[in-house]
Amino acid sequence: MNVETMVQHANPFLNAQRQLLTAVDQLGLDRAVYEVLKEPERVVVVSIPVRMDDGSLRTFIGYRSQHTLVTGPAKGGIRFHPDVTLDEVKALSMWMTFKCAVMQLPFGGGKGGVVCNPKAMSRGELERLSRGYVRAIASVLGPELDIPAPDVYTDAQVMGWMMDEYSRIVGKDQPGVITGKPLVLGGSAGRSEATAFGCVVAARETARHQGWELEGATAVIQGYGNAGSISARMLHELGVRIIAVSDSTGTAYDPRGMDPVALLAHKRRTGSVRGFPGSQEIPPEELLTLKCDILIPAALENVITAQNAPKIQARLVVEAANGPTTPEADPILFKRGITVVPDILANAGGVTVSYFEWVQNLNRWYWSEEKVNRRLERAMVQACQRVFRLADHHRVNLREAAYMAALERVAAALKARGWV
Ligand code: NAD
Repeated sequence: MNVETMVQHANPFLNAQRQLLTAVDQLGLDRAVYEVLKEPERVVVVSIPVRMDDGSLRTFIGYRSQHTLVTGPAKGGIRFHPDVTLDEVKALSMWMTFKCAVMQLPFGGGKGGVVCNPKAMSRGELERLSRGYVRAIASVLGPELDIPAPDVYTDAQVMGWMMDEYSRIVGKDQPGVITGKPLVLGGSAGRSEATAFGCVVAARETARHQGWELEGATAVIQGYGNAGSISARMLHELGVRIIAVSDSTGTAYDPRGMDPVALLAHKRRTGSVRGFPGSQEIPPEELLTLKCDILIPAALENVITAQNAPKIQARLVVEAANGPTTPEADPILFKRGITVVPDILANAGGVTVSYFEWVQNLNRWYWSEEKVNRRLERAMVQACQRVFRLADHHRVNLREAAYMAALERVAAALKARGWV
């Protein structure tokens, strides 16, 4: 690997810019579209002093990136993780622009992050950090400006604290400032399952497009949090055998298949998927190259690389995580006939139900879970069909087709506003 490639692996923002440029050129768009979209419209870097339980004061660094507002207010999650970097947040905000556009949602892309280790913090410390982050970025938030949501190691409770803090700052109830909230604070029915539900619908539609059904297939899942564990449960309900899973602490492999609900209970009890009764532990790097029909990376970025792509034995890779496949790995998988359902399509169920949540908050009129799921399924099927059509027409992979679908929309908005 040369130095440039290593830097790109380590830098998801360079990957995102490269994907953008490829899509601009493939669509034959004016390079001005790339010029406008290659950097976020606004990036905020803040320091957040937090009183810790032992009485000491610690300062945390937080980021918020608004990639573009040309297609609507910025939308995207907030990540609490020790490895958060500004470039990661910028890349994730650009991917959010394309994810919203591929789903035809009236949002631009945003993303936030705080460098911290939430696992080593008390509930009180996390609450003070969450409120401090909102105070620091409140001037660039708002239901018509930037609407955050949960991401890695942030959940409905964190969203509840953040919504409360923002509402106090502006002096009125503002449920529409953030999505993924607890139901009682204006959260949407179906939001916590939405990313996984969307992933499973995308997997099912892609399989059908290729002439096969999920029933009887095998799946391997990396990451057993919100997206990974619920995808496992829903796939299992469709007759898919879950043969291996992992989390940050270890792996569980059982070729006979595992019960995802019992596995989640085991993880909750012991803190790890490791040691699940009947399973064996395999090295984490072997998990991705197991023979299976469906591989779901549902943890972090850059896990499918030029090194392991030649060894991947899945039929379908469904990207629940954002950016799990490096640009070098993509063509290797494509040439080997392995279909990748790209992140901006595969995990768009979460932002789609976030959109439904925001609409419900603005109208103060709430939908049943059945209505949410019906509308989500329809939106996912329609987005998949648009992407399949472009992929078949231009003979490109699904990622390139999804970028083309998204970019056509963003470029049209730029043109309609007179920016290019
Ligand atoms: P989460 O915090 O609920 O779960 C993350 C999981 O990944 C945990 O089980 C953790 O142990 C595991 N993990 C961390 N490092 C790992 C490693 N090195 N190897 C294996 N497992 C590891 O987060 P989530 O909400 O499920 O998000 C997972 C991914 O899905 C992220 O990339 C996120 O951006 C993406 N995503 C989530 C949503 C959503 O609505 N939750 C929406 C779109 C995209």
